[in-house]
Amino acid sequence: MTFYMSEGDYRLYKESKEVKVKFELSPEELARAKSWYRDHLSNCPSSSKSITYCFAETGIGVAVRVECSCGDEEDVTDYDLW
Ligand SMILES: [Zn+2]
Repeated sequence: MTFYMSEGDYRLYKESKEVKVKFELSPEELARAKSWYRDHLSNCPSSSKSITYCFAETGIGVAVRVECSCGDEEDVTDYDLW
């Protein structure tokens, strides 16, 4: 998994080992991610298939994007939670 953090969060994380950063997928987001990836696999041109979860802090919520190693991606953010 790859986490993309904002610069401020990363600085905080580096400065103190006490600070833990935790990102979670809601059940809805997990379902969307799994569904997208399952559909995507039948069209994926990459031989080394792997999925990356990207979490983007926006201030009002965390946007979640899934990326395949082939470069295809999908926004699975559950905006109902914002
Ligand atoms: Zn792919």
